Amino acid sequence: MDALIKQTKSTCCYCGVGCGVIIHSLNDKIIDVKGDTEHPANFGRLCTKGSTLHLTAKLDNRLLYPEMRLTREAPRKRVSWDVSLDYLTEKFAQTIEKHGPDSVAFYISGQLLTEDYYVFNKLAKGLIGTNNVDTNSRLCMSSAVAGYKATLGADSPPACYEDIDHTNCLFIAGSNTAFAHPIIFRRIEDAKANNPNLKIIVVDPRKTDTARSADLHLAILPGTDVALFNGLLHVMLWEGLLDMAYIKAHTNGFDELKETLREYTPKMVADICGIKQSDIIQAAKWFGAGPTLSMYCMGLNQSIHGTDKNAALINLHLATGQIGKKGAGPFSLTGQPNAMGGREVGGMANLMSGHRDLNNAEHRAEVAKLWGIDSVPETAGKTAIEMFDAVKAGEIKAIWIACTNPAHSMPDLNNVLTALNNAELVVVQDAYNNTDTCEYADVLLPASTWGEKEGTVTNSERCITRVNPAVPAPAEAKHDWAIMVDFAQRLEKRLAKNTDLFAFNTTEDIFNEHRESTRGRDLDITGLSYDLLNANGPQQWPFKTGESQGLARLYADGIFQKPDGKAQFLNAVYKGTADKTDARHPLHLLTGRLRDQWHGMSRTGTTAQLFNHVEEPAIQMNADDMMRRSIKNGDIVKVQNKRGSLVLPVQSSTDVQPSQTFIAMHWGKQFMHGLGVNALMPPNVDKTSKQPELKHTAIKIEKLELPWRMTVMRAVTDLSMLQKIRALLPHFDYASCGLFGRESANGVGMLILRAAHSGNPNADLPNVDGPEGESLKDNSLKVDLMAQIDSILGMTDDMPLLNYNDAKRGISKRILVENDQVTGVRLMGETLAADWLKDVMSSGSFTNDLRRWALAPVITPPTGQKGRGKIVCNCLDVSQNEIVDNIELGADLLTLQAKLKCGTECGSCVPELKKLVQMHGKF
Ligand code: SF4
Repeated sequence: MDALIKQTKSTCCYCGVGCGVIIHSLNDKIIDVKGDTEHPANFGRLCTKGSTLHLTAKLDNRLLYPEMRLTREAPRKRVSWDVSLDYLTEKFAQTIEKHGPDSVAFYISGQLLTEDYYVFNKLAKGLIGTNNVDTNSRLCMSSAVAGYKATLGADSPPACYEDIDHTNCLFIAGSNTAFAHPIIFRRIEDAKANNPNLKIIVVDPRKTDTARSADLHLAILPGTDVALFNGLLHVMLWEGLLDMAYIKAHTNGFDELKETLREYTPKMVADICGIKQSDIIQAAKWFGAGPTLSMYCMGLNQSIHGTDKNAALINLHLATGQIGKKGAGPFSLTGQPNAMGGREVGGMANLMSGHRDLNNAEHRAEVAKLWGIDSVPETAGKTAIEMFDAVKAGEIKAIWIACTNPAHSMPDLNNVLTALNNAELVVVQDAYNNTDTCEYADVLLPASTWGEKEGTVTNSERCITRVNPAVPAPAEAKHDWAIMVDFAQRLEKRLAKNTDLFAFNTTEDIFNEHRESTRGRDLDITGLSYDLLNANGPQQWPFKTGESQGLARLYADGIFQKPDGKAQFLNAVYKGTADKTDARHPLHLLTGRLRDQWHGMSRTGTTAQLFNHVEEPAIQMNADDMMRRSIKNGDIVKVQNKRGSLVLPVQSSTDVQPSQTFIAMHWGKQFMHGLGVNALMPPNVDKTSKQPELKHTAIKIEKLELPWRMTVMRAVTDLSMLQKIRALLPHFDYASCGLFGRESANGVGMLILRAAHSGNPNADLPNVDGPEGESLKDNSLKVDLMAQIDSILGMTDDMPLLNYNDAKRGISKRILVENDQVTGVRLMGETLAADWLKDVMSSGSFTNDLRRWALAPVITPPTGQKGRGKIVCNCLDVSQNEIVDNIELGADLLTLQAKLKCGTECGSCVPELKKLVQMHGKF
């Protein structure tokens, strides 16, 4: 390796697995990323997202300078840090003085580092005196927190990744681990290969890649998890599989629960859940035999009964004594990389530093003493949904949003957008300018991001890792903690507080204060330091003074964080989802993740190869439901309920059961016409955790006739063309845009815009509306839409184009050929050749034979050019059609791996390869 290349240890910034990475940089530019072979979360492995992190380190869509505007109507202008922070200091001070501390709020993120989080929390609770600090972890992990606290007494996940290697029964509930936590799934695959006795049970309404790998898939009806868990406990009780001695010695509340369990017979549970009685009995026997490790995620958390679902699953572990020992325990998988760190510092509206309780006067006094102030506020702040409702109602006047995109991620989005429009002051602190929330910012503050930041993060297994900067933040971007310390010091002075709460010069200063806040608590890390983490690598908490290592497993002694040391069974009963299907809304809509995208795609949506697995938004439907409605694959439908609507194509899928549909949660206004699936989701929340039900709603579907079609593709050197094209999406009834291909020295891949409309959209121009009926602010009605597109693409008449026009039939086609390569395609009115031309653009082979057919209305040219289909193996660029061709010739998984090399790099595609072998194999 080039001696000038610098290697920096850090972590992946996507999911809660918390994989260790080594960032390679040269001349202050990130050029590559490798898995850290010494990191206990991944031992060198990375998934498709982690292994392409370096490709996302572009400046194209970065915020580089502070911007602000004094009125909503005015454009934002670049200003200095001093001007922006002085303005914010004055605005916040005036608002607090006039309307009280609860008139301001901070909405932050599980992507922030622990040190960032700590400063936000101290600013709100310690300086301003409000608990109005909440985070997108409310949408993600708060039911897991509430479930742990209700049963075990503290928000402390008892198990660790190593337990996967020792378990005999892996019970995965509400988690598509293969997509959402791929490196954990690699470990599960290894465990299964090493231990043929390992039974994997997957509970999920969908037949995901995770479910396909299971020995038993319990495809329950949406939201019926509590009934299933109670049913399993009923069977285990009946079969004598419970550990009565453990129950007696270490728990409370079993007798009450036992009464409830009586009615959860296999018959009743089978009816509620829509599964077979024999499967319930089988699952109970495997669970009871143990050791059993449960892994669960958003399917349980994002529910109006999320706390009950978490607790009912933990009940199973307490009743069988499957906790605190190797290969056993209830293990909640963290969604975001540092949701756990946020929980540690109490960075939520109802939490306190060091896992303390807000409604405990002693705990509040401890925090006040630590911070050297008289008191901290005792009334719980507004949680995410409440916070935006309060903004909408004018109760909260100023909201500071950091490192998150509520205009995409919150449920009932139209309501949230109204709130943001109504706010007196919206501050957005982010690394990127391409989030939906940015457009609402009165003040936009540029933050540093992955590869630039310093601090610590805690992953799902309580493991703290140092995050080190590989390169400096660009232009005037600053670290989140530093922005907040600067603002807090100004505000402290302006409010004439006689304190010095933010005397932090480094992240280590902050970490040391946070460390002190954990002394004597369940997460005590007083034995840790930056030096120790740097020297010895990641460490699990608790890690007390004088100890040489953290605890891998909690509760081995059967003593829980309850006043009498005993865990508490939660007596949960089954209740349905917030939205119910009915005659008007007959279909369930489920949401979930794609393999290669992350959240709102502000980072992954800048990398072409991360679109190759799934290129455009779609609603997945069962073939029976499609047939009944005369819907074909690719037809465009309107998906609707009382909160909003979306227009997108249908994709037939065997993953979803009859009456159920699925839309991935990533697609939003940046990549489609419409706000994304969260516009349809209910704002209803779990009464304890206040987590909303982002996983389920009821919908109706209407097939649309949109005969006018357009496909536009263009090789691009940077993302500016994509930014311009996305502004045109609202002109079409259906439109999506994104990238495809692969990054190269010449560019960032290929841009693609797909659109469909009821007629020629040029004719519609005077009536053009924005999303959800909004009028477009920058409506260039007088300019021909196609001329605009050609101009943006650089496919104007002066370029070397192949042209075809049939004005009568509304067909216009342009193909740009430069140096014998197709670098641009614009098919309007008729798009049959789009797929094979796309492959021609990717492969670069544009022969004279193909040239003859390029403008013809043919799905496949007679020269035999066959489309590659979607890319299954992203690392090695192996397509589905190549894989299927080989399977049809007799290849199994091993042969595919040997011949095509697919699935031999990061392994994320292995579950899909197995599925394809199953579907297309002859034997
Ligand atoms: Fe990143 Fe993938 Fe590891 Fe998650 S599993 S931390 S996304 S590399």
